[in-house]
Amino acid sequence: MAPPGLKVTVKRWSAVASWTWTADDDVCGICHMALDGCAPGAAGPGDDSPVVWGKCAHNFHLLCISTWLQSKTSCPICRRNWEFAPSAPPPSATLAEDG
Ligand SMILES: [Zn+2]
Ligand SMILES: [Zn+2]
Repeated sequence: MAPPGLKVTVKRWSAVASWTWTADDDVCGICHMALDGCAPGAAGPGDDSPVVWGKCAHNFHLLCISTWLQSKTSCPICRRNWEFAPSAPPPSATLAEDG
């Protein structure tokens, strides 16, 4: 009897629990400019180019994510549903699997 053909099913997986943010890479994930620098279209760095955090722990210039959210609802980096976080998460934060 011939062995049944092997069928390999690659399950799609999402790395929701992994922590990919690196503190050494303080650039905006959208425009790739420094987060403490000036976003494209901003009058200048600092108060004129505020940085916002998402609950997924990715951060972007407010101008950049605002433009992005005009056509998308997900984080540009991790594709999680974008939600603004009230403040930057602590460096040791771990993401809870909330489904
Ligand atoms: Zn930016
Ligand atoms: Zn993200």
